[in-house]
Amino acid sequence: MHKTHASRVGVAAACAIAAMALVAPAAQAAVTDHGGAALRDGDHTAAVEAAIEAGPARNVILLIGDGMGDSEITIARNYEHGAGGRLEGIDNLPLRGAYTTYSLHRGGDQHGKPNYVPDSAATGTAWATGTKTFNGAISVDLDSRPQDTILEIAKANGLRTGNVSTAEVQDATPAVLAAHVDARSCYGPESSACGSDALEAGGLGSISEQILNTRPDLVLGGGSASFEQTARAGQWEGMTLFEQAEDRGYQVVRDGEELAAVTKANQEAPVLGLFTPGNFPTRFAESIAVPGGDDTPITCQQSPDRLSEDLSLGALTSAAIELLDDSSSENGFFLQVEGASIDKRNHSADVCGQIGETIDLDEAVAAALEFAKADGETLVIVTADHSHTSQIVGSVPQHTIGNKLLTNEGAIMNVAYGTSAAGSSQQHTGAQVPIAAYGPGAANVVGLSDQTDTFFTMRNALGLETDFAALSAAASIDAPTQVKPQDEFEVKGSGLAGDRQVELVVNGVSERVLDVIDAKVVGSVVAPDEAGEFTVTLRGVQTSVEVSEDVLALVEGTDQTPEDSEDAEEPEGPGDGQGSGDDDSVEDSKQPAEEAGVGGGVNAGALPRTGAEIISAGVIAVLFIAAGGGLYYLNRRKAVKN
Ligand SMILES: [Zn+2]
Repeated sequence: MHKTHASRVGVAAACAIAAMALVAPAAQAAVTDHGGAALRDGDHTAAVEAAIEAGPARNVILLIGDGMGDSEITIARNYEHGAGGRLEGIDNLPLRGAYTTYSLHRGGDQHGKPNYVPDSAATGTAWATGTKTFNGAISVDLDSRPQDTILEIAKANGLRTGNVSTAEVQDATPAVLAAHVDARSCYGPESSACGSDALEAGGLGSISEQILNTRPDLVLGGGSASFEQTARAGQWEGMTLFEQAEDRGYQVVRDGEELAAVTKANQEAPVLGLFTPGNFPTRFAESIAVPGGDDTPITCQQSPDRLSEDLSLGALTSAAIELLDDSSSENGFFLQVEGASIDKRNHSADVCGQIGETIDLDEAVAAALEFAKADGETLVIVTADHSHTSQIVGSVPQHTIGNKLLTNEGAIMNVAYGTSAAGSSQQHTGAQVPIAAYGPGAANVVGLSDQTDTFFTMRNALGLETDFAALSAAASIDAPTQVKPQDEFEVKGSGLAGDRQVELVVNGVSERVLDVIDAKVVGSVVAPDEAGEFTVTLRGVQTSVEVSEDVLALVEGTDQTPEDSEDAEEPEGPGDGQGSGDDDSVEDSKQPAEEAGVGGGVNAGALPRTGAEIISAGVIAVLFIAAGGGLYYLNRRKAVKN
């Protein structure tokens, strides 16, 4: 227990230390004195002006207190620091506003109308994508169409990305950044909730599988149980998601010691830290709300189940920042941090639980602020996704449940939960919630905004390009032009920043999916058994951008074209190859969409079209190959943008 100490800071000094001055408390007089409870010294105008800083920002750190409305913040402050005290992180952001959080109804008479009481899935979709949707939706719109998320967009723009939660990483808030499903409970491949989103149903897969596909540089939280499940379809069918993660190059960590040993988090080796099977245990032990409140005031106790200090939300936030911040890179990072159980404990009418989780989040905010103040190029935003039940009341009525608490400053605080019957889950509420910010672009949270504005505030501050196809428009492919039948050889693609996966296609048949690592892919192909020409294509899964290369499988020692009849029609000289390359160059964005299909893309444009062309090209080709110029032969490249 500690009171905020006195520090007299004049307005002149406030200009010099900018935002800090905003939070400097007034002289520490007794709250019973005139002005004794005031939190400011003198005129605040210069300090507010100094806190307003235009973008761009290099980094964005977004911290979400799930269900952390003003009521939850005030309860935690009162209990821990006193009514006149301050939460060291949450209360120290200089610019503050409020935002509306409503979601939308889907189906029935109310379709498309506001749902005044949202859930974390719809609200998460709103701040993560800028699109309002229905309760339960994970980054899909009212018609179930996937919406690009701020994390996916940041990654496509070359930023490093992180996603941290005290909940299962499949829970709504972390999920909205990395997955697109209709039903928020579609956690793993064995979930019955996935429906048409399941891989075996032709969907994008469960939330856990989509997290692996989205491949943030760093994911930390709970939820290992879902990763024990086995994929039912796709490339990793029959393997658990943990086995899949290892196969795809993830660094899987299970405890604080393993996390401390991690020295880098990047696309080559992303960090997947899953520290509990389900949600994290809470900081404070559970309190039991009783009808009419307690006769004797209670105090909150530390929970013996709490994870070690190195896995507190504050510690995880510091670890994430340290791993994502790279001053040698021209790009910054996007990091989301969620204090998840403020909401969950609220549902359970557990006031001590929610207080502890709010303090936990506050420590994470303080860690983010400390970094941002030193860094000077980081936008920090702290908000809630929706408001919740708990209310500070004069007394807890007999017809509802609550607690009488003795706060650290020795005063009595009654908290009631009145939105559901005792024993059932307390409800979310529909009030607007606070949003506060620090750093470049922070002024955008001031006043009243909507939750969807937050997506645009972050996107604009980071100056992100949102057109994935444009980010993959300069794609190219690199493969040998001549191999032997049955040879295994390497195919490389680059310029694929707009895609997270690329399909490797040989002669129109999809072989497998490759993860895009820093806009590049590498895959191996085995040449067909028969000699002849074949086409290797890389097709962006997210953008449908295609790049192809024709490869000739030639039996060693032969000095003639293959006998295969298809190939007999194909020869062309180096001149033709050059020409077709120009015809299909990636710069030509006016390429008709019809040519973008697999068959058209592979065959269109590049081959001789008339009999005379075929004959002359064939003659040139035979001479050319005989002269040992095979490496130049058929070196034609295509990139077709859909
Ligand atoms: Zn909730």
